Amino acid sequence: MKLAILDRDGVINHDSAEFIKHPDEWIALPGSLDAIARLSRSGWRVVIASNQSGLARGLFSMDTLNAIHAKLRREVAVAGGAIDAIFVCPHGPDDGCACRKPNPGLFHDIARRYDIDLKGVPAAGDSLRDLQAAAAAGCAPWLVLTGNGPKTHEKGGLPAGTRVTADLSLAVDAWLSED
Ligand SMILES: [Mg+2]
Ligand SMILES: [Zn+2]
Repeated sequence: MKLAILDRDGVINHDSAEFIKHPDEWIALPGSLDAIARLSRSGWRVVIASNQSGLARGLFSMDTLNAIHAKLRREVAVAGGAIDAIFVCPHGPDDGCACRKPNPGLFHDIARRYDIDLKGVPAAGDSLRDLQAAAAAGCAPWLVLTGNGPKTHEKGGLPAGTRVTADLSLAVDAWLSED
């Protein structure tokens, strides 16, 4: 099975320091929807692994998050792609959960759901914690230079073997060419 794991904010859509709290605030990054569609058309399954501490912070409800994800899925579908599943950590930084990245809990959930070894599965993120969680789960970490990506790149300290691309579209080009 060909599987790709994507962070959401700053990879698929514009991120905001004020969080994405409403469907109207969810705006796709240029090329990201088409990139997902290219994966889908090539037989890949695309899943999202996303920290959404805004839930724990009381900034938005699960109903609102579901509405945001309905918009995301609709726009991906219009582009000709599909999101297989969305895995969310709803906790805050002080909750001590196993699923908030940099912990690999969401990735382990994905491995269980699909009953696969994540070794070498590409995982794209724009923050260090995305790459750390991916690497801890055995995925191949890819840093995209959208969202927090430029800051993450500048700070350094990336997990060994992290690949860097300008955006999701160029990452997908690489995945498909190695496919
Ligand atoms: Mg992000
Ligand atoms: Zn969590």
